Amino acid sequence: MTKSIAVIGAGLGGLTVAGLLQRAGFAVTVYEQAPSFSRIGAGIHLSANVMLVMRRLGIEQALSDVGLHPDAFISRQWDTGAVTFELPLDAAAEAHYGAPYINVHRGDLHHILESALRPGTVSFGRKLRQITETRAGVGLSFEDGGAATADLVIGADGLNSVVRSHLFGAEPPRFSGNIAHRAIFPTALLNGQPIDACSKWWGEGRHILVYYMTQAREEVYLVSSVPDPTWPGGGAFVPGDLDEFRTAFTGFHPALQRIVAAAPEVTKWPVFDRPPLPRWSEGRCVLLGDACHPLMPYMASGAAMAIEDAAILARSLADFDDPAEAFLVYEATRTPRVEQVRTISLANTWLRTPVDPSWLFCYDACEAPLIA
Ligand SMILES: Cc1cc2nc3c(=O)[nH]c(=O)nc-3n(C[C@H](O)[C@H](O)[C@H](O)COP(=O)(O)OP(=O)(O)OC[C@H]3O[C@@H](n4cnc5c(N)ncnc54)[C@H](O)[C@@H]3O)c2cc1C
Repeated sequence: MTKSIAVIGAGLGGLTVAGLLQRAGFAVTVYEQAPSFSRIGAGIHLSANVMLVMRRLGIEQALSDVGLHPDAFISRQWDTGAVTFELPLDAAAEAHYGAPYINVHRGDLHHILESALRPGTVSFGRKLRQITETRAGVGLSFEDGGAATADLVIGADGLNSVVRSHLFGAEPPRFSGNIAHRAIFPTALLNGQPIDACSKWWGEGRHILVYYMTQAREEVYLVSSVPDPTWPGGGAFVPGDLDEFRTAFTGFHPALQRIVAAAPEVTKWPVFDRPPLPRWSEGRCVLLGDACHPLMPYMASGAAMAIEDAAILARSLADFDDPAEAFLVYEATRTPRVEQVRTISLANTWLRTPVDPSWLFCYDACEAPLIA
């Protein structure tokens, strides 16, 4: 039996895999580069397939209590506002998918996920620098001069994964030529302008999502995708320019323009992805989530795939004593589904027109057959 597992990165995938592995009896430490969790300005959709995993961590109710339960996901035509598809997310939909669909603040999700771990599981301020594999295990060295060892390492360290570079060589991610604006502001700033609980406005080559982020509906979240070939590189995001943000939606329906105009500030994020990897593991190290398969965010399923990865990887490690066998089962089980999501995310067509999302939402990564 594997004794100790080091998870690199306390993102959504890293925290989920740590919680599930602890429940399966493994000794887990999560090493996170940030000095603490910060409440970054962003919301996230959690579809039923994510909530089914959260259920096994015992936090479905806590998320359900804080998140907004939209009655529908509404797609609108950019200029007329005409509804091109309305996906019901009511009680009947919840019964069909097996769990609710909610919108939450990422900070709330992080906080609740961390509460599912044993106290002291996350070691903050630990930026991984180097990995050394020996027959006995894996040595980790950190930027702060510290070191640690483990039997296995899970690279959940996101887009610019150090674990991925160790396994397969360093290569920069692919800039898509699009940026995302993100804005969060109090609902009061809408001055009574009504909004859908959860909607996406579809233009040609650009779009914007508008949704409430909390059950109390006191905060609105906007997240766009707009072509911008000029991203200079550097950090994960930069402060955005409000005039530029508003101009990007000139010509959209007046109701949408009023919503955009209500944002008092905005940030700008580059959208990256990477081509598929031929393998997801090597020796004693394995990847999950964005470290392994960063996807275009147009299906709102990047985190969902990281969380499903976490569930399948934890089950594979619990079921197979030989880590090499466990990693192969994990990869064989995950690849077809991740590739399906990659293709649809890239096409940016998800929920624009009528479609049955049952194949995505009804999937229970804690019960689905493992592919040996
Ligand atoms: C604009 C936008 C909107 C999105 N909206 C959605 C959505 O609605 N729904 C959805 O499912 N997905 C969405 N996504 C995608 C989603 O955010 C990612 O797919 C998801 O966060 C990936 O999770 P992860 O755990 O793999 O990586 P991350 O969340 O990136 O976490 C990686 C962690 O590793 C840490 N780390 C990195 N390097 C090191 C190191 N060397 N040492 C130690 N720690 C390290 C980081 O600090 C971080 O905490 C969106 C993405 C974008 C860009």
